[in-house]
Amino acid sequence: MRFELSGEQAQIREMVRSLARKEFAPKAAEIDEHSRYPEENLSRLAELGLLGMLVPAAYGGSETGAVAYSIALEEVARGCASTGVGMAVTNMVGDTIYRFGSEEQRRRFLADMASGAGSGAFALTEPSAGSDAFGISTVAVPDGDAYVLNGSKTFITNGSRARVAIVAAVTQKEPKKQISAFLVEHGTRGYSCGRPERKLGLKGSDTVSLAFEDCRVPKRNRLGEEGEGFRIVMTALDGGRVGIAAQAIGIARAAVESAISYARERKQFGQPLSEFQAIQWMLADSATELDAAGLLALRAAYRKDTGGSFTREASVAKVFASEAAYRSCHRAVQVFGGYGYMREYPVERHLRDIKVTSIYEGTSEIQRVIIARDLVRQGYR
Ligand SMILES: Cc1cc2nc3c(=O)[nH]c(=O)nc-3n(C[C@H](O)[C@H](O)[C@H](O)COP(=O)(O)OP(=O)(O)OC[C@H]3O[C@@H](n4cnc5c(N)ncnc54)[C@H](O)[C@@H]3O)c2cc1C
Repeated sequence: MRFELSGEQAQIREMVRSLARKEFAPKAAEIDEHSRYPEENLSRLAELGLLGMLVPAAYGGSETGAVAYSIALEEVARGCASTGVGMAVTNMVGDTIYRFGSEEQRRRFLADMASGAGSGAFALTEPSAGSDAFGISTVAVPDGDAYVLNGSKTFITNGSRARVAIVAAVTQKEPKKQISAFLVEHGTRGYSCGRPERKLGLKGSDTVSLAFEDCRVPKRNRLGEEGEGFRIVMTALDGGRVGIAAQAIGIARAAVESAISYARERKQFGQPLSEFQAIQWMLADSATELDAAGLLALRAAYRKDTGGSFTREASVAKVFASEAAYRSCHRAVQVFGGYGYMREYPVERHLRDIKVTSIYEGTSEIQRVIIARDLVRQGYR
């Protein structure tokens, strides 16, 4: 076993770390304060090939693989969490179109997404179907050379910005429910977006509802076979969860770094906070848990790169990383005391930003369901 990054992976980490430190982190508080979409950050990521990392060069991607992608996403999220989630969804959508799309679909969408000409969105959740994703009720009815979509989606990241959204819809109700996936392009008649959601954190990310009213989507825009959509979206989420783990680790590392600096400087009882064992243990516990989370995320990414099944590994990484990261951000605020509760310092933002990582792309409870189901089916391999 070789326990080190390849030369290219290490180079990507250094490049993205430097970019995020110099360009993203200094603006993250302002982006949060004004709930501003970080357009310029996403453009920089596109310039550097970081929006098509899972897509082959033949389709305009940078083809760096899932390990490099996880490392890069962690660094981006460390600088600006909202930028991280925008990057994560576009990469996930690109990966999914590459895996399941026709040659014509790959050529039509992937290069634009990688170059930043149009981001991607992933539209599964509905007002009445979140964790129970198979319970969606958006329908797609064939009509001539198109499907007619009716229904709505909720909490969709990149929803109002995306050039193309992967939309899951029911194509058969009886005798057996079937779901198909569609590539719905921005500007299609009958396709509209709601107002930006007002959120606890990730305030710079674009989160909207989508509505489909007699929206005609050409048959050539169906992704995969009819009835294959549920498998496609679940496969997409496996990859997405590795990204969410990386994102959570990045946000929490930023919080721990701030806590270390503050503990060195702030004095109480005539000595720096860093001299108190209670504070030291908080820092040590956070670093220990985040290191473990990092290894789990890399294991899942490595399995994805090497073609193994990684559903359970992705869920293990996501549930552990998002929860460890939450604890780390919580401790970081505690290290700051009252100042940690104030907007002048970044740790309250990190605590707000981190919460959603244990909710989206499947809650922690759903990750545990997936892990347990796999254990019962396959044993503890
Ligand atoms: C900021 C943000 C961005 C998002 N972006 C996207 C996106 O781009 N695309 C998209 O499709 N969705 C997106 N989502 C939606 C997200 O994936 C869902 O919110 C999530 O899957 C949970 O669904 P829900 O909100 O309906 O909660 P519910 O499913 O109603 O769950 C409520 C609670 O019940 C628990 N629960 C539910 N079922 C079970 C069970 N079987 N066992 C134990 N506990 C259970 C849950 O864990 C949770 O604690 C986003 C959400 C947010 C907040």
